[in-house]
Amino acid sequence: VPELPEVETVRRRLAPRLESRRIDEADIGDARLTAPEAPSDVAGRLAGARIERLGRRGKYLLVELDRGILAVHLRMTGNLLLGGTEPPFARAELRLEDGTVVHYTDVRRFGTWRLLDHGATAWLDARNGPEPLGDGFTAAGLGRALRGRRAPVKAAILDQRVVAGLGNIYADEALWRARVHPATASGAVSGPRVAALHGAIREVLQQGIEAQGASIRDFRTPDGGYGSAQERFDAYGRTGEPCPRCGAALRRIVVGGRGTHLCARCQRLRAVA
Ligand SMILES: [Zn+2]
Repeated sequence: VPELPEVETVRRRLAPRLESRRIDEADIGDARLTAPEAPSDVAGRLAGARIERLGRRGKYLLVELDRGILAVHLRMTGNLLLGGTEPPFARAELRLEDGTVVHYTDVRRFGTWRLLDHGATAWLDARNGPEPLGDGFTAAGLGRALRGRRAPVKAAILDQRVVAGLGNIYADEALWRARVHPATASGAVSGPRVAALHGAIREVLQQGIEAQGASIRDFRTPDGGYGSAQERFDAYGRTGEPCPRCGAALRRIVVGGRGTHLCARCQRLRAVA
């Protein structure tokens, strides 16, 4: 569930506490987190490493070390929490030289910690297309990625190689804002709608970051607090409520196997995928 705004919220909060500090000790208590590598191997390589910078690529939080990059993916229910006492569902922890402790918790245990060697940008680039808030994400590029595709446009923008960082929540919000029906065949989205979708993707992600992400089920900020993005959603999770734009009741349908929220009046289906 954590999408780009949630991961970016974690990055911004942790960066001043982690950057330029050395990891004294790493303790990883869940083999699923580091599979196929053994948790003790990864923990051993983290111990003594200096954290140079916290970065992000799509939904990956990148702990850039003097000896490689730890790529953390929170998947469904992963959280990184600052503090001393061990929280419930703790799977791993990092202790820094200055006494800072970071706990990794994960109820569902789908998250991953993968230690990449330097020059691992190829691994990340193979999994992530353009960063939606960067200059590399353009309306023209999005149009090229959608052209000729028969899959529903929602499925296309959830493909991390088309645009990195979107998940079910912000995809629904962006499609509502751009007035694009989520089940439209990707290649049938008109040029003006592609441009609107491009702008909407950037807007909903930026607003999500400003609200410190969405705490719908499990997401917490590193201080244990809650994001407030969910309070501002126009369509996601608002089945039956009036569309903020036209007043028609918002609906929930299934597109590409995912629960999808939309206004059938504002988002007309013109070409079925
Ligand atoms: Zn509407």
